[in-house]
Amino acid sequence: MLIDFHTHTTASDGALDPCALLARAQALSITALAITDHDTIAGFEAVRQSPPTDLRLIAGIEISCVWGGVTIHVVGLGFDPDASAIQALLARLDDARRQRAVKIAERLASRNMPGGLDGARAIAGAAQIGRPHFAQWMVQAGHVVDTGTAFSRYLGQGKVGDIKAFWPALREAVEGITDSGGVAVLAHPLKYRMTRMKLQALCRDFASAGGLGLEILNGRQTSDETARLKRLAQEFQFAVSVGSDFHRDWQYGADLGVDSRVVGTMPTVWESLL
Ligand code: AMP
Ligand code: MN
Ligand code: MN
Ligand code: MN
Repeated sequence: MLIDFHTHTTASDGALDPCALLARAQALSITALAITDHDTIAGFEAVRQSPPTDLRLIAGIEISCVWGGVTIHVVGLGFDPDASAIQALLARLDDARRQRAVKIAERLASRNMPGGLDGARAIAGAAQIGRPHFAQWMVQAGHVVDTGTAFSRYLGQGKVGDIKAFWPALREAVEGITDSGGVAVLAHPLKYRMTRMKLQALCRDFASAGGLGLEILNGRQTSDETARLKRLAQEFQFAVSVGSDFHRDWQYGADLGVDSRVVGTMPTVWESLL
């Protein structure tokens, strides 16, 4: 069975609009899927009434938040999209993204790259604006040769355009999901490049905030990494989740769909959602 609980659309920084994403999922015979755009459910909202037959579409989101000075992503699944808690959090995140974009543009302007706010906004259009839109603008404006360079020099972790001051705290993100009847999943734990002890501290705080799930598979990863994440999930008694983190056809990224057998006999977040 192919499933996927981590995907992006044009509502954030993905290349496919929600209809095209679902059509692709259907063509691949994926049976259950969540659209988890960064800090918005607009993509999910656009198709929630009309998913393809034989595909279970679950409410989803990937929330940006901070913990211990690091930007953390929390995937929310199966919440009531109309609940007041998630709606309040969405408004908070929308505001944060707008203020952050202004700040990123200021920082880039200070490095002789003026006009980034209008540039990135034009590229984002109706999408939730983010660093990938700034990266694309920087390529267009001739400041860098490709988006990878934009991240490695200016936008990536610890660089001048990496602004996290506006994000809510981890607990606020988790509570917004759980108070709306959803399951909070700690996304791609290995991507934060934390020491083992710091990652354990994160898991403890995530669990104490009400987090129930851990993403043991995110896109392309080695079997060693999956084994390590399975042990981490067991240690904290998290249910497991999996997803492609699909954004676009890209040689370093995974296509939609994960073989559900990868979880073996571990408890899963989708048992309670499907
Ligand atoms: P934001 O949501 O604005 O913080 O931007 C984060 C997004 O940028 C991630 O979800 C990725 O899709 C993308 N991203 C992060 N790092 C890189 C990178 N080194 N190269 C290309 N895209 C990246
Ligand atoms: Mn992204
Ligand atoms: Mn992420
Ligand atoms: Mn993602």
